[in-house]
Amino acid sequence: MGEQAIGELRDGMPFVGGRLWIDFVNSATATMGDFLETPDGWRRWIAAADLPPESTGEMPDVGPARDLRTALATLLAHLIRQTIPPQQAIDAVNRHLGAVAVRKQLQIRDGVLAIGAATMGGSDVLAAIAQDFADFAADFEPHRLRYCSGPDCTLAFYDTARNATRRWCSMALCGNRHKVKTHRARKLVCD
Ligand SMILES: [Zn+2]
Repeated sequence: MGEQAIGELRDGMPFVGGRLWIDFVNSATATMGDFLETPDGWRRWIAAADLPPESTGEMPDVGPARDLRTALATLLAHLIRQTIPPQQAIDAVNRHLGAVAVRKQLQIRDGVLAIGAATMGGSDVLAAIAQDFADFAADFEPHRLRYCSGPDCTLAFYDTARNATRRWCSMALCGNRHKVKTHRARKLVCD
């Protein structure tokens, strides 16, 4: 990763999902804008996500990335509601799964061993994201997958804590805002 992470933001983008594919869906936000609006934004997201930079040297095409993101956002909503997702969204992910074989690679991340995907080009980056979703969908606990409770926040996350009581995308982004609000409300009641 090129830039240092500040809290749960990397290069100004939220990485709070706990999974690559959720962070990818979270690249479209209600409060901070869409980070995949431009090829440069897409390139920055790839770097922030710790995926190998695209080798072509050309500006990466955002169209296929945004199409996959739309499909994954639909699948996310259905996984949270525990309803059957539309075939169209599944097909969109399958197209990327079939496109490239992703080689997995061990790497040290934040001082611990982690599995990273070794990828080469733009479509391979999308294949790595699709692969992460497929791994997730095959083995996840529905009650841990949810949207942030922040009233204006659209970010999602997978709560890996044992008690699974996390409410916020992050304390820095939404949790503290909520604490300040309830504190103010309490003061109003007491004064
Ligand atoms: Zn939030």
